[in-house]
Amino acid sequence: DPRIHGIQSKIRVVPNFPKPGIMFQDITTLLLDPKAFKDTVDLFVERYKGKNISVVAGIEARGFIFGTPIALEIGAKFVPLRKPNKLPGKVISEEYELEYGRDCLEMHLGAVEPGERALVVDDLIATGGTLCAAMKLLERAGAEVVECACVIELPDLKVCI
Ligand code: 5GP
Repeated sequence: DPRIHGIQSKIRVVPNFPKPGIMFQDITTLLLDPKAFKDTVDLFVERYKGKNISVVAGIEARGFIFGTPIALEIGAKFVPLRKPNKLPGKVISEEYELEYGRDCLEMHLGAVEPGERALVVDDLIATGGTLCAAMKLLERAGAEVVECACVIELPDLKVCI
């Protein structure tokens, strides 16, 4: 798809952020270009519209940016998957491994009904640990995860899913 090259060209790579040796893929420069941003959302909408998806779950924080317009366009509800202690209601939590240490994602109890078809959205997949935790949360709530959608896939990394 010719749109992909345009999208790719708007993602800035910042060396040594947030730590020495990391090439950070910065999507904020993509958001500055309304055409490239819209093309990104459109590509996902074209893939998922009409697939009977009733939930889009976005991962804090950049998964919110792409997940919400996709949810609106495909006519699904949006469920934020948040870092610990941010959601005010009762939650279910899922811990996952990071390169150094652990992190956790939380989802509001009752946000998803058993049997719902869900799409998980984030900006980037590296090891896949974050997406695995997100999938587990949705599956524990009884949803079926149809697919995970990311704007960027880091090459040469072993993915756990
Ligand atoms: P994983 O769990 O797949 O190893 O890491 C993916 C998570 O880390 C995503 O939530 C993503 O937002 C974040 N992340 C890791 N590296 C980068 C990066 O270079 N750029 C951006 N935008 N996010 C990153």
